[in-house]
Amino acid sequence: MPTAYELMSDQELAQEITRLEAEAERLRSLGLKLDMARGKPSPEQTALSHPMLDVLNSSTEMDDQGVAVDNYGAPDGLPSARALAAQILGVDPKNVIVNGSSSLNLMHDLVCNAFTHGIGGNKPWSQQGKVKFLCPSPGYDRHFKVTAHYGIENIPVPMLEDGPDMAMVKRLVENDPAVKGIWCVPKYANPTGVTYSDDVVRKFAALTPAAPDFRIFWDNAYVVHTFEGEGDHLLNIFDALAEAGKSDMVYEFGSTAKVTFPSSGIAFVTASSADMAEIRAAFSVMRVSPEKVSQLAHVRFLKDLDGIKVHMEKHAQIVRPRFELVQEKLHAGLDGLDCATWSNPHGGYFVSFDGPKGSAKAIVGLAADLGVKLTPAGATWPYGRDPEDTNIRIAPTYPSLEDLGAALDVFVVAVKLVSARLAKAEREGQQ
Ligand code: PMP
Repeated sequence: MPTAYELMSDQELAQEITRLEAEAERLRSLGLKLDMARGKPSPEQTALSHPMLDVLNSSTEMDDQGVAVDNYGAPDGLPSARALAAQILGVDPKNVIVNGSSSLNLMHDLVCNAFTHGIGGNKPWSQQGKVKFLCPSPGYDRHFKVTAHYGIENIPVPMLEDGPDMAMVKRLVENDPAVKGIWCVPKYANPTGVTYSDDVVRKFAALTPAAPDFRIFWDNAYVVHTFEGEGDHLLNIFDALAEAGKSDMVYEFGSTAKVTFPSSGIAFVTASSADMAEIRAAFSVMRVSPEKVSQLAHVRFLKDLDGIKVHMEKHAQIVRPRFELVQEKLHAGLDGLDCATWSNPHGGYFVSFDGPKGSAKAIVGLAADLGVKLTPAGATWPYGRDPEDTNIRIAPTYPSLEDLGAALDVFVVAVKLVSARLAKAEREGQQ
């Protein structure tokens, strides 16, 4: 569909560009310094967890079901923390390791371990020639960086409305033994906000990979990050695997990074019993035992899944108005121009925005020029290469509502001006 700018007469288009340039100049003169780049909770949100700092003190008994909290031991994590993580992911606590403060770190270590030592008795990935990972795109830039760091070839797979393009995933996974894994954020995906449908989850579970050492990296980072009520339903991947009679195919991850404190949460991983035995053996070389004091604080503070839901509702009350403001401002500024589409997620941390072909870098550049920092264009694709240069990730949680409103006003003007200039350039190219 042509954009409103493409439908204007030459004179109308020139006038509109002049008007938008004047508006951009006015915004530049405000000297704004606003940041919509990273998916960080706001200070109001992290303050919700400050009381966690008070749940432990020097009189607290350093024992958790017979495990010493203040000493080495329990490499899988405190029993109560494993039970809490198991509730969050809906799995058996005996297959859960709680370790470290970053789930991305656990993902990295498992890619690294597969690369240097292999999975399931197979040769290390590093000794199998070229190996590949599938990257539903737009996706999470830090996932793609982990595999790129080891020289693994990242292959983009389109993200559709209910999850990755499963016909393409099936074709690649079932025919190419060099395909060793796929990055998935199955609920409120970063950045599209998509929650995978039951059909997509079942199609993942039904895969018959050509590679015996293929694993799905199921990063359930936003499993409890709902804006309203129960939120989206996500079929449990391990239930789907059991239904399909499959095993040893999924590593699932989670953390409380955006429940309590980013960088000081608790992180966890679960997989089949056989995969967990291998993960345990690998981790036993990498670490002595995890941060159990932090784990105890988390359990005392959050208690159980119901406690987490109550806590997440407090987060929701803070983030919901921000996401509503994004929708309001984008609709008010861009409706009727046919130059953009964007997601309207029910949870998570991002809105995924698509402008006209060849616009994203210019929009991000112009917004930066006018004082608004956005995630670099292309970051949501492997190697930072968005083939159509359309996608921009909007991260609305960190700024105050007032700053967010100002940042979105700048963003809308940048989208319009770039779209209008593209229409003009295209017209001139055709002459
Ligand atoms: N996975 C996804 C999809 C994320 O968006 C993020 C944080 N932005 C992380 C993992 C990082 O989590 P952690 O702090 O536990 O490493």
